[in-house]
Order: sequence, then C-alpha cells, then structure tokens
Amino acid sequence: MFVLRHARLDDLLDALKRRGFTLVGPVVRDGAIVYDVIASSSDLPIGYTHQQDAGSYHLIEAHDGAFFGYTVGPHSWKQYLNPPRTRLWKAKGSANGFEIVQENANVPRYAFIGVRACELNAIAILDRVFLQGSAVDFEYRRRREHAFILAVDCTRPGGTCFCASMNAGPQARSGFDLALTEVFDNGEHYFTVVCGSERGDEVLGELCLEEASEPERQAAKHSIEEAGRHMGRKMETAGLAELLASRVEHPHWEVVAKRCLTCGNCTLVCPTCFCSNVEDVTDLAGAFAERWRTWDSCFTLDYSYIHGGNVRKTAVSRYRQWLTHKLSSWHSQFEMSGCVGCGRCITWCPVGIDLTEEVRVLRDGATAVTIGTEKGVPDAKH
Ligand code: SF4
Ligand code: SF4
Repeated sequence: MFVLRHARLDDLLDALKRRGFTLVGPVVRDGAIVYDVIASSSDLPIGYTHQQDAGSYHLIEAHDGAFFGYTVGPHSWKQYLNPPRTRLWKAKGSANGFEIVQENANVPRYAFIGVRACELNAIAILDRVFLQGSAVDFEYRRRREHAFILAVDCTRPGGTCFCASMNAGPQARSGFDLALTEVFDNGEHYFTVVCGSERGDEVLGELCLEEASEPERQAAKHSIEEAGRHMGRKMETAGLAELLASRVEHPHWEVVAKRCLTCGNCTLVCPTCFCSNVEDVTDLAGAFAERWRTWDSCFTLDYSYIHGGNVRKTAVSRYRQWLTHKLSSWHSQFEMSGCVGCGRCITWCPVGIDLTEEVRVLRDGATAVTIGTEKGVPDAKH
C-alpha cells in the first residue's frame, strides 16, 4: 500500500492522460453529481456531498475539500460500457441487395475515475451478462477491454446505500487497476493506494510514491469500517432468492403497484439493468439502413409484448418481475444477485418506493407503511 498526498492527485490523472485515456469522473451538473469527461482534479466535485432518501436527492456544499465526499448519483458506468444508443451496423443498397458498410473501429479509451465498490460489482455483473454467456457482446467487449478503472473506497455512505448488506462494498476488493482511499486525519489529507493490475502497477511506478505508514494504513482502514457501520439502508439477504420465489402471490405486490408509476426510472439508473430494444431505420429511398440498440425497461408495456399479446399487462406484474429478477431469478440465470445495494432505484423513484422496505414486508408479512406520495398518484394498473 502506498500513499498519495492530495496535492499530487493530478500527477496520477496526468499519467493516465499521457497513456491516451480520456478521463471520465464525477462532476457537479444540474444540481447533482454525474459522470462526464474531466480534464483535471479541479473538475471533480470538491467539497460537495449529497443527502439521499427515498425519492429525494439534495446536493450540499460540505466545504471540506474532499474530492470524493459523495457516494453515487443518477449516472452509472454502464452508460459508457453499454451506451443508451448503440449502432450495431449500417448498410447501403447495392446491385446485389445490400452491403454492410464497414465502420471506423475507433474504440473509446476511458479511464473511469472514482468508481465505487458497488459499481465494481455492477461492472462484474455486466461482464457476466455480456461476456461470459453463450454469446459475447462485441460492442461491450471492446469498450470494457480498454477501460482503466481507478476505484475510490466509500468513506461516507449515502442515505439509500446498502452495499454492505449485498457484500458489494464499501471497500473495493477486486476489478480495479488502482484503488484509493481518501483520508482526513490529524490535519492531513491524503490517499492510500493499492494496485489491482499490471497496468495499475505500471502507472504507479511512474509516480514514485512512498509506502503508507502504519498509522496511515490504520486511518484508511478505520474510515472504510466506519462507512460499513453507517449504511443508510439494510437488507436481510439470507434465503432471499427462495423467499421471493415463494411470494409471487403475496398481496403486498398490489400495495406497491398502487404507488408505482411504471416510469422505469429505477431500471435506467440501476447500474446492472441491461434490457434493450433493437430498432431498424432506413432513409426514405430505401437505399440506406441502420440497426440501433437502445436501452429499454421491463416497466414499459411494450417490452413484454410477444406474438399475440403482452405477457405483463399490470403494474403488479411488472414491478414483481423487476424485483424478483434482481433478487431471485438472477441467481439461477447468472449465479449471482442482480443488485449491488447502490440505492439509486430508491433515491430516483419519483414516489419513493424502496426495495429494502418492500423486501422487509414480503419477508415479515407485515403491512406496508405507505410513505409520502401515494395521494394524488394515479393508479398505474392497466
Ligand atoms: S418503482 Fe418507482 S422508479 Fe420504478 S417504475 Fe415504479 S415509480 Fe418508476
Ligand atoms: S436494484 Fe437498486 S439498489 Fe440494486 S443495484 Fe439496481 S439501482 Fe442499485
């Protein structure tokens, strides 16, 4: 373990830029912390944090000089690895029918700055889906292979975080090139650094850092342990997959569906949701065609339309599908949970539906506590 003084963070970012990486990291925009291209550490949300709860998010100035004093906002890294719109191919008419137009195969080389432990686990889930099944997704693979991952441990968990329950945080354990822990201790501000790959090792070698002292190691360890003890939410996961599979007729699904707007926000912000649609477009003359893949959501009525009709017509069936897929059938499909406990679906649900609370009710059988916004929300059942 090494130590990087906070004033030298740009040395690390510059080393990545010299290797041809485009830096993507957290920035403040439109009242939230989102991911975008950054030029240097001065673009990071320095001194900002946020308060999150079910259906609410507030950006706050903490004035403490922390580069990474927040948890996660509405964006996730899936927008760079599996973009919302991807052209799969394009073709033009020819004497023999049509021919595929070869595209410039330039691959974006991103360095993701500030990847949280839950997000490393979410990327591992996307890897399982896109790279480790019977069919490998070419577009995902080329983006993933080139990505450099600079992780940062969480030391201030958010109000909707429950990564500790999902065994997905707050400490980055694998899946990174370099991992930092930001520490404030006795007036000092520094990062401890661990290396997770040869590429990370090579970048680190250029910086000639000192070994972290024992007090510095202990301070970093203490910060992460404190974060683990202060998660905003908890979820009991023992036997959860089996439990949900046995609760498909539970009356609580109707209670949740009365609040759910089937807007799909939860799926769009979720770092592991990957449902997509495919659209073909042509020009008016029929001489040119393109095929696009776009993000979709299991909450839309169209998504479950198959020959002869829609198989999930009600909000009950669509919410149940989403929750039971995440926490139950994902295990049989991919041998892992589909949830990493990032809390985004809780924060960004406009009516504050909280999957940790819904699971508690489904587990305990207790009556759901209706929070906030049920009044005035139309019945979303179809
Ligand atoms: S659970 Fe919330 S975010 Fe998800 S579809 Fe329903 S209303 Fe929208
Ligand atoms: S289901 Fe919710 S808490 Fe779990 S990974 Fe997706 S957005 Fe995060």
